[in-house]
Amino acid sequence: MMRYISTRGQTEPVSGAEAILQGLAPDGGLFVPEEIPTLPEGFMDQIKAMDYPRKAAAVLSLYLPEFGDLTALTREAYAGFDGEPAPLVEVSKNLPLFLELWHGPTCAFKDMALQVLPRLIGKAKELTGESREVFILTATSGDTGKAALEGFRDVPGTMVLVFYPEEGVSDVQKLQMVTQEGFNVGVCAVRGDFDDAQAGVKRIFSAVPPSDTFLLTSANSINLGRLLPQIAYYVSAYADFLEKYPERAADGAPDIYVPTGNFGNILAALYAKRMGVPLGKLVCVSNSNNVLTRVIEDGVYDRNRALVRTTSPSMDILVSSNFERAVYLLSGCDSAYTADCMRKLSATGVYTLGEPTGSAMREEFRAVWRDDAQAADHIREVYDKAGYVIDPHTATAAAVARNGIVVSTAHPGKFPEAVKAALGGVSFPIPAALTIQKPRRFFDAVDPDGIGDYVKTFFAM
Ligand SMILES: *Cc1c(COP(=O)(O)O)cnc(C)c1O
Repeated sequence: MMRYISTRGQTEPVSGAEAILQGLAPDGGLFVPEEIPTLPEGFMDQIKAMDYPRKAAAVLSLYLPEFGDLTALTREAYAGFDGEPAPLVEVSKNLPLFLELWHGPTCAFKDMALQVLPRLIGKAKELTGESREVFILTATSGDTGKAALEGFRDVPGTMVLVFYPEEGVSDVQKLQMVTQEGFNVGVCAVRGDFDDAQAGVKRIFSAVPPSDTFLLTSANSINLGRLLPQIAYYVSAYADFLEKYPERAADGAPDIYVPTGNFGNILAALYAKRMGVPLGKLVCVSNSNNVLTRVIEDGVYDRNRALVRTTSPSMDILVSSNFERAVYLLSGCDSAYTADCMRKLSATGVYTLGEPTGSAMREEFRAVWRDDAQAADHIREVYDKAGYVIDPHTATAAAVARNGIVVSTAHPGKFPEAVKAALGGVSFPIPAALTIQKPRRFFDAVDPDGIGDYVKTFFAM
C-alpha cells in the first residue's frame, strides 16, 4: 500500500483513502505520496488504445492500489462530459497544440478532478469504514466552486459549502454558483478577494476539533483526490502526442504551458514528469498577479502586494496553496525546510528559497507572465490564424508558447465579455450549460471574519 505523508512532516503516514478523506494534513501541510510511483514498463504502449476513463483509472491505480479497479468509477465520472474529456487538438500547423480540459459539466478544467473526487471520497469511506457525515468546505476563485457543487450535489452523506469573493468572479461564474440546485449545497459570497476566502476556510480546518458525527474536508486543490485525476490527463496527453502528432514529437519532449493560479494543474504535470512521462519544461504562466513568476525566477515568494482584478479571475491569487508541494519536492523532500518557508509566509508574507531549491525550481519550471492586454491580443491572434476561440486564462499561457502544448482550462463562453471585446464583437457558440435561466437560490454575503460563524450555522456544528 502506498502511504501519504505531510509536506510539513509532523503527521503520521496515512493511506490514500485517509489522505483523501482528511483533505489538509493535521499539521497544516499537504499530503504527498511517500514515494512517487513510476510508470510500469510498457505502460505508455498499453494505454494507447484505451479510452480516457480507462487511462485515468490506470494512472489512479498506481497511487491508490487498495481502491481496486477504478474503471467503473472513472467511467461514471466522465460520462457527463461532452465528447472526449481531454482531447489534444491541433488548430493550426503554426500554433502549439491545445489540451482542451473544459468538456465537463461546468466548462472548466476543474471538472476533470471534481467529477472524480466525490466518487473517490465515497470509495474511501467504504475502505476505511467511515460512517460520519462528510462536510465539504471550499473557497473558490471562480471555477472550483461550481465544479465542486456540481460534483457533490445530491450525494448522500455529504454537504458542500462554497465561499467565493464577491467582486472577484465573472458574471457567468457567479450565476453558475448562486443558481446551483441540490438539497445538500450552500453558497456564500465573501466581501474580500480569493486569498481572504481561502485563508478563512483554512483557519476553520485548524480551529474545528475532530468530531464523532462529521468529518470536515476540502474540495480545494490541496486535496490529494484533486491532484491525482489531474496527473492522468498529462499521461494521456503525452500518449496522444506520440500517437497523433509524430512530426511534432520528432522535435523532442513537448514543453507544457499552464495558466496558473493555485499551482494545482501545473503541479500535476510535475508529478507526471516524475513518474517518467518525458515532458519538457513546465512553463508556469501568470497574469498580473505574478507572485509565482518572481519566486520561480528569483526565489523570493512575496505576497505583500495588492491583488489585481484581471480578465482571468481564476488566476487572481497571491497565496498559491499547491506551491507548497513543489517546495517540498524540489527541496529534496525536506519537510522541516518546507514547514519553515510556510511559517514565514504566514507570519510575514515573504520567504526566500535558498539553494539548491532555487536552482532546482528553475531547472524544472520556467515562469512568465502576461497582462490582460497581451492576453486579449492573443485571443485575437489565435482567432485570426485558426478561427479558434480561447478563453482569457488559456490565452495568457498561449501568448507565451510558440510550440509544445498549451493547457486550455476553460470554455471561452465562461468569460464572454472579455472574449467578445478581444474579438471586436465577433460572437461564438456558447454551450447550453452556460446560458443560465434558473432562479437565484443564494444571496448571503459575509465579511472574511464572519466565515467561521457562517460555517458553523450552515453545517449545524
Ligand atoms: C483554476 C483555474 C486556473 C488555475 O489553475 P490552478 O490549478 O489553480 O493553478 C486556470 N484557469 C482556469 C480557467 C481555472 O479555472
